[in-house]
Amino acid sequence: MLFHRSTTTFLALALTITSSAHPHHGDQRRDLAGVCHGPDSNETHFLAPSAEALGPAIDSKMRYRMEHIGNVMPALLQSTAPNDRLQLQAAIKGVTDQPVMHFVYSQAHSDHVGGAYIFNETITHYIAQVETLLNLEGIPTLDPARPIPNIIFQEEYKVCVGNQTLELSYKGPNHEPGNIFIYALGSKTIMVVDLGTFAELVQSDYIPGWIEAHYQILAHDFVTYIGGHLNRYGTAQDKEYVQDLFNFCSDAVNGGFNVTQSLGPTEMASPGNYWAEFKDYLKVASDLCIENTNKKREGKLAGLDAFGWENAYKMIESPRIDYGVLGSFAV
Ligand SMILES: [Zn+2]
Repeated sequence: MLFHRSTTTFLALALTITSSAHPHHGDQRRDLAGVCHGPDSNETHFLAPSAEALGPAIDSKMRYRMEHIGNVMPALLQSTAPNDRLQLQAAIKGVTDQPVMHFVYSQAHSDHVGGAYIFNETITHYIAQVETLLNLEGIPTLDPARPIPNIIFQEEYKVCVGNQTLELSYKGPNHEPGNIFIYALGSKTIMVVDLGTFAELVQSDYIPGWIEAHYQILAHDFVTYIGGHLNRYGTAQDKEYVQDLFNFCSDAVNGGFNVTQSLGPTEMASPGNYWAEFKDYLKVASDLCIENTNKKREGKLAGLDAFGWENAYKMIESPRIDYGVLGSFAV
């Protein structure tokens, strides 16, 4: 039997993280009182990502691409619609005539495993970490597109079929509880979904674990990293960006700007509205964080013009509430 489980998993989930190109200055607006309001929501001018940032082209008609990873992994699909039944069926038929019998849940989120049902007539093993099981069971209305897994593990699980081995491991909550590391031994490919840069830190739950996961990947002996969004594979630069963002956010809240001066106009305009003051505090701190991050990453990483500020705004709370870097709000 060929390694259908891994094929299925990668087919369903192999969209890699971020892109790289030129960050865009000038997103931040300040009103006359000097309070930042973040990016202009009506922004229509974004930079064209470089070819390197976009990664290998995806056939616009087929809307997926197959490629070999190493000399063992049969093939990889990169799709623009990971839950598209026809795409997945066609892609798998392109590499094997054997039935798909295993599905590994990388996590519970529908944008990655919403196609889990597609081969449910032949799949006998739906494999997941226990937190993913709980997440799937916890959905108010059970989603038939994401069948309840029947093989559950806590910390480690090894899937061996034919000459292929997948090592699954759980290192604690990061993007969401149950988000696992999937390591394909033969091709030295590692997959951890939803790291790197995307919208609002990829909507991640636990930022310290999420940051740490980037380092946990680097501790593996791997050639290829698959992150789950967009077209190219992940690089160390994605980890460096995440670390920069955290560091600059920490600096911003830890005395990076004059809070009294920055919030003075809001206090005067809306006396007693502490919510408005704190909202502006977070905005000013996020502005400072992304300004410094952009300075360092300019020309190296795409997506900062689209989501750089939102990433900073999401990150800005982590040094405060997770690491106790409270700056002027220290108790
Ligand atoms: Zn997710």
